[in-house]
Amino acid sequence: MLEKNQLAAATVFTAGVMLLLADLVDVMDVSVLQYLLIVAGGAALAVISLVSKKEKSLLCRVGLHKYNRTGWDDEMPSAAIYQCDQCGRRKRVVKAG
Ligand SMILES: [Zn+2]
Repeated sequence: MLEKNQLAAATVFTAGVMLLLADLVDVMDVSVLQYLLIVAGGAALAVISLVSKKEKSLLCRVGLHKYNRTGWDDEMPSAAIYQCDQCGRRKRVVKAG
């Protein structure tokens, strides 16, 4: 559903840009509609982007995950599985010895 919204927002944004380009070459005379479309589409894209990344904290986005050990790897008994509290990202850490 989110992707559909994103597509719609992108379409609105693109339509605005195309109208603007058309206006620049004097093909058609459009008013502020083009700017409204660009602003609306751009804002919608920004909001959707924010919403879709809401579950990721700022720290995770810069790579500072808060890992907790959740278990051990089935295939490699000496490898522990860590999962980030904030975004759910997993990593495997092999213990030496
Ligand atoms: Zn994280």
